[in-house]
This record gives sequence, structure tokens and C-alpha cells, in this order.
Amino acid sequence: MRWSDEQVAMLREMGIRLWQTPAEAAAQDRVPVSIPEAREARAPVVIEAPRAAASASSVAALDWPALRDAVAACKACALCESRRQTVFGVGNERAHWMIVGEAPGEQEDRQGEPFVGKSGQLLDNMLRAIGLTRGEAPDPAQEVYIANTLKCRPPGNRNPQPDELAKCEPFLVRQVQLLQPRIILAMGAFAVQSLLRTTEPVGRLRGRVHRYQGVPLIVTYHPAYLLRNLVDKAKAWDDLCLAVETARAGG
Ligand code: URA
Repeated sequence: MRWSDEQVAMLREMGIRLWQTPAEAAAQDRVPVSIPEAREARAPVVIEAPRAAASASSVAALDWPALRDAVAACKACALCESRRQTVFGVGNERAHWMIVGEAPGEQEDRQGEPFVGKSGQLLDNMLRAIGLTRGEAPDPAQEVYIANTLKCRPPGNRNPQPDELAKCEPFLVRQVQLLQPRIILAMGAFAVQSLLRTTEPVGRLRGRVHRYQGVPLIVTYHPAYLLRNLVDKAKAWDDLCLAVETARAGG
């Protein structure tokens, strides 16, 4: 199998070395890996009274624009008081892949887009290595839509609280219903545990195909975790390969 320059750069970043001829190795050292630009966020429209919970039934009928507006206006939990803006999601609404992360961090809260900080750069490189992008691609099978379990930043990047996850959940459920992805990649304990309703650790759930709303779901480590635990990058690569195989096989 021949790897593209970007795939080799990504694999190297993940700590996985491929055999190469000296000429290939020299050429690869010169390949820059670029990071896609941030996208704009839409203006909020208030549709709920302060502190009204995002009830599953009120959200279940919303289309994409109404759902985005409902998220922007949400005051269901205290996170609305400290957020700069909500972080709805990014990517093409026809994308075959859906990535679910945890919650916005400082950069995401500033820019209104998920995964734009350091872990977002690693995520983009991982996606590029398997031929995927959060941007536009000729084929929806190459596109990903990225969303978080929480749409607002927890202050100081603390862990999401159970009541915050519960109140935000209807938004993610609706995003999955509208997107109808062919595959979901759940990254990190909070995404995995809230989607699969389990307290099992990521390490015990990865390596097999789960289901969420009938969609195949692959569990993997959060990019922020991988930045701190380089040794687990090889396992994350295995997870990506399992996701590619599962998507190709049609679930
Ligand atoms: N981590 C996440 O889980 N999501 C983001 O959007 C950024 C960092």
C-alpha cells in the first residue's frame, strides 16, 4: 500500500514508523501539514425562557437552522453564564462521518468552532491521514461533521457535570438524527459514556463496533489525552483503521 505524504506525516506524529526508501524519507521531511481555517458562527435567536431545559420533545422536530438557533439561545444550565458563545458543530451536513468530542475549550469558546486548539490540530491530522476533512470534499464519504456532547465551555476546562450533559444531550441526539451519519467516532470518556450510557473506561470499549441510534460507533481516545499519552497514539491509529473498515463495509 502506498501512503500519501500527509498520511505518512500523520503516522509519524502518532509515533508509527513506516519503512521507507531513503529518497522517500528525505522527500517526506519537506512536507508541511496545513490546518483548515475556522468557520463562522451564526447569530443567536432566543427561543426559550432563561434556564428552560432543552427538552427532547421541543428539540426533536427542529431542522438544522432552528437547532443551531436553539443551541445559541440555550440557558438550560449555568454554563450559559460563563460562555462567550455556544459551539454548535462544524462540517458538511451531508458528511458520512460524525466525530463527537467532549466540550469546547478556551479557543473553541472564542472561535465558535469545535476542536480548533492543539487537540483540534491533532484531530485534523488524524482525519487527513485517513482521507477525511471537516471542510468540503468531492465525496461526502470523505467529509466529517464534528460536534461536542456539551455546546458550552465549562469554566477553566473542568469536566462536564452530569446535569450539564443531560441538559445538552437532546441537541446532540438531534444532530445525529439530522446528519444520519454512516459512522460515529466517539472521542474520550465523556463522549463515549454519554453516547453509550456506560461507565466503562475507553480502554475497555475500544476495538469493537458499538451502535448509537442504529449507527455504528467506534470508541477512541480523546486527542487531548493522546497529546499527553503518546504511547496510546498507536491504539488510536488502530481505532481509526477499524472505523475506516466499518464505514467501507457499510456498518
Ligand atoms: N476538546 C473537545 O472535546 N472538543 C472541543 O471542541 C475542543 C477540545
